[in-house]
Amino acid sequence: IVHWPFSATQRRKLNWVQLAGHKGNFKAADEGTILKKFSENEMQCFEKLKGDALLSFVPDYHGVVEKDGESFIHMTDLLANFDLPNVMDCKMGVRTYLEEELVRARERPKPREDLYKKMVEVDSNGPNAQEHSQRGVTKPRYMQWRETLSSTHTLGFRIEGIKKCDGTCRTDFKKTRSKQDVIQVFKDFVGGNNSILRSYLKRLLEIRQALETSEFFRQHEVIGSSLLFIHDHTGKAQVWIIDFGKTTALPEGRTLNHVIPWLEGNREDGYLWGLENLIHTLESVSNE
Ligand code: ATP
Ligand code: MG
Ligand code: MG
Repeated sequence: IVHWPFSATQRRKLNWVQLAGHKGNFKAADEGTILKKFSENEMQCFEKLKGDALLSFVPDYHGVVEKDGESFIHMTDLLANFDLPNVMDCKMGVRTYLEEELVRARERPKPREDLYKKMVEVDSNGPNAQEHSQRGVTKPRYMQWRETLSSTHTLGFRIEGIKKCDGTCRTDFKKTRSKQDVIQVFKDFVGGNNSILRSYLKRLLEIRQALETSEFFRQHEVIGSSLLFIHDHTGKAQVWIIDFGKTTALPEGRTLNHVIPWLEGNREDGYLWGLENLIHTLESVSNE
């Protein structure tokens, strides 16, 4: 039983929510911070972001730490300064797998039964004949299939999950695809509060501006990264860029424009195109 007033630790435990990824990937840490399972790639990104225009839009990075024999990335808990936050994870881009994953799956296909089952759960006609007979689908195949269901292809972003302040949590947005569907989800998320909506929009415009000047952004294929929307009843509303697990540096001298369509080989991710659509979608919410 937790008694009022809550200590900072208790509040953090009550606030913490993870809208994606494996549950074991995160641990609580010192006040206002969390630990995310170490990945070399994500650590490299945080290191490179240190001097970049995006720095004030990503969680503060406190280095790599060891705990119980495992390595973690130590970062700020973005929920810590909120009171009963509402949280939304919005995965950016027209593609959620790396080109190299596609190449690997083609060369050495590794059918997975867990992904086959997930596919069947949503649509029993999802797997093709071969996939049915081997009861397995490869990861890129699963991800490509998922992308056709959600708004990833049509809008360049998709909603991964939402937790509302009343404790309800939803991650069943796999088929939320049309702009109208997304508008409804956002409308429900902000509870018709236009001032929160305006704060979110303002922050998205700041993020767009930072992305346009960021060297890091020009030099990376940004795949599977999310915008984390957080607001609470005090009217505080923020958006943060999270998850660099699959954000990959381009070869020296190459850059991306993040708007033009993806054709295999060009490594484009559609991030800015998606952000533009997200901004338009949010603008439509208040006019609904
Ligand atoms: P996946 O690749 O499947 O998206 P992941 O293991 O890379 O998962 P993240 O996407 O980084 O993990 O984070 C998963 C969830 O944890 C996010 O959706 C968000 O709810 C929460 N989260 C991540 N980082 C933070 C943070 N710094 N502060 C608060 N919440 C966070
Ligand atoms: Mg993520
Ligand atoms: Mg990730």
